[in-house]
Amino acid sequence: LRSPTVITRGDELRRQVLAWRAEGESVGLVPTMGALHAGHMSLVARSVKECRRTVVTIFVNPTQFGPDEDFARYPRPLDRDLELVAAAKADLVFVPAADEIYRAGHVTFVEVEGISQRWEGAIRPGHFRGVATIVLKLFNLVPADQAYFGQKDYQQTVVIRRMVADLNLPIEIRVLPTVREPDGLALSSRNAYLSADERTRALALSRSLRRAAELAAAGQRDAKLIAAEMRRILESAPGLILDYATLVDPDNLEEVSRVAGPVVALAAARIGRTRLIDNEIINIGFADTSAGEMPNV
Ligand code: AMP
Repeated sequence: LRSPTVITRGDELRRQVLAWRAEGESVGLVPTMGALHAGHMSLVARSVKECRRTVVTIFVNPTQFGPDEDFARYPRPLDRDLELVAAAKADLVFVPAADEIYRAGHVTFVEVEGISQRWEGAIRPGHFRGVATIVLKLFNLVPADQAYFGQKDYQQTVVIRRMVADLNLPIEIRVLPTVREPDGLALSSRNAYLSADERTRALALSRSLRRAAELAAAGQRDAKLIAAEMRRILESAPGLILDYATLVDPDNLEEVSRVAGPVVALAAARIGRTRLIDNEIINIGFADTSAGEMPNV
């Protein structure tokens, strides 16, 4: 297998991407933190299909981790990642050198107000400030036509879309469905932390979301009742500590009390030292859903 070109310097990366664009070649960007799995690779495959050139970035971004989180132990299997990217036929991988992204004296951050403070943001203060900042930096280093993100991190996609709209960023955001194991577990680099036993317990997350979708499909419109059923499932999983389980508005992530249009079920829990999140878009049985349709999902 021919390995993809690995670039570690931002100025070199930007020059290459601008050269492609000048030739009229479309460019797709897939930002990741590495430890690549089939979820990441679905984004790469779509970019390779839709764009003439694909750039994958691998950077474990320190500013989106809290002081007591897993930044230091986050998996970094770089050689394996590069093989996967090569097999997927991406053109270029950006693996920034340590001093490339946050230089001494870096004090500028992007704050997407409101939505960044809810749910994940409430539990991980500063998380979305770190996400928005690194994503904007990557958009500047890789002036791509399209950038690909996973629905797996639903709140992140809402924060990024908001930033792109508010700051007039000239890039199209594509969101692709969550890739799951056959038993329902959403693929995540953090699944590597789970013991076999913990992994079984983690299935309560996807189970609670499927149950929420089933109840809505069966006509249940009381969102509080559906969320209570999700919490019941999660709280009955031994050793699982619930952070939140709720039904929210797809655009502003505010909790809803009725299922009167498309909603998103969100769930987050801790299992041992591992924190997992999952979600499901529930969009069924509404005569006119065009206004709330999820773009690209
Ligand atoms: P991460 O490396 O965790 O920052 O994720 C990089 C990108 O892959 C993000 O846009 C994630 O939403 C996406 N992603 C992670 N897990 C999955 C999955 N199971 N299915 C689809 N996309 C995913």
